[in-house]
Amino acid sequence: MNIHEYQAKQLLAKYGVAVPRGGVAYTPQEAERVAKDLGGPVWVVKAQIHAGGRGKAGGVKVVKSFEEIFPTAEKMIGMVLVTKQTGPQGKECKRIYIEEGCDIQRELYMSMLIDRATSRVTIIASTEGGMEIEEVAAKTPEKILKVSIDPATGILPYHARKIAFGLKLEGKQVGAATKFILGMYRAFIDLDASLAEINPLVVTGAGDVIALDAKMNFDDNALYRHKDVEELRDENEEDPAELEAARHDLNYIKLDGNIGCMVNGAGLAMATMDIIKLFGGEPANFLDVGGGATKDRVTEAFKIILGDPNVQGILVNIFGGIMRCDVIAEGVVAAARVVSLNVPLVVRLEGTNVDLGKQILANSNLPIISADDLGDAAQKIVKAVKEAA
Ligand code: ADP
Ligand code: MG
Repeated sequence: MNIHEYQAKQLLAKYGVAVPRGGVAYTPQEAERVAKDLGGPVWVVKAQIHAGGRGKAGGVKVVKSFEEIFPTAEKMIGMVLVTKQTGPQGKECKRIYIEEGCDIQRELYMSMLIDRATSRVTIIASTEGGMEIEEVAAKTPEKILKVSIDPATGILPYHARKIAFGLKLEGKQVGAATKFILGMYRAFIDLDASLAEINPLVVTGAGDVIALDAKMNFDDNALYRHKDVEELRDENEEDPAELEAARHDLNYIKLDGNIGCMVNGAGLAMATMDIIKLFGGEPANFLDVGGGATKDRVTEAFKIILGDPNVQGILVNIFGGIMRCDVIAEGVVAAARVVSLNVPLVVRLEGTNVDLGKQILANSNLPIISADDLGDAAQKIVKAVKEAA
């Protein structure tokens, strides 16, 4: 789960991480109130969307007089921002953050993430703040500092100092950076974050080290123990189909292709996507209906798949273990009727009650193409979609 910049800053501040003062606003009136409380003389108005690159897209405005707060806020709220991270359709800004202007001396980069190769939290830092880190890594890899933290010891002050010196900080900045890094690490671990990224991390004229931007992602599987984090969810920012799927306990991720997939089990779902690609097709989604899917859930899964306008065919691939093939077949038939299916449908069933399942499909009088194994199923759906196009 992602959260907004201002929410990440509020969480980090609780752990002693230095952030500028600021307040969120949903209307220009609220923006004025926040700006008045902050006092100026310089404010920064920032669009709150779950995407970076706002600065270049007009989503970060420096405001130097109180009178400009209202019109700036009015323009930004409701604006559709198209940044490198939003995709071409952009994202509508519904709330803004008003922050005190900061006297920037240097812009640095800092992030923490879970490195799957080492099974550890890795801290990444760079002197090249404000830039996209992927670009820095590609063009000047020597400018990326990496420190891996042993979970047995957790972070130690020397880790933080190593980064501080690597960032060429000096004097009191070293102490400030150390406090920052230790606090950020504690927040990362305590809150079960999967990513925390501060870009830029700035050194101010006064020698303070503060987070000017903040991004945090959290492990969905740990949210049950962080109700306060879960409350920060902004459904406006999430894919409506993925939200709907989550409500029905379906694991659904939308992709760019045109062949919808309904599969039980994450591994089989991945294999199904692979084999569709092997035969020249493109999967429209990942969808795991889970082990104990009911007829209703299968119907919901169909509705979600067909809600994607790119879908030109569906492949159902179910291994009936816990779930029986006849239940799936009934679900498929019921769903096909409810949603008035108008694209080719290939169904491959295997496992418990497979013969009964196939019989239900055959007796349904629906134009369902039956397949015997995974390769056969993938070839049939790719062919059917090509022919229908
Ligand atoms: P994004 O990464 O989405 O473009 P940032 O929060 O990183 O948004 O802001 C972009 C740039 O705007 C920063 O690199 C910084 O130069 C400037 N900026 C952001 N917040 C402030 C602030 N409070 N004071 C001064 N400059 C700021
Ligand atoms: Mg940024």
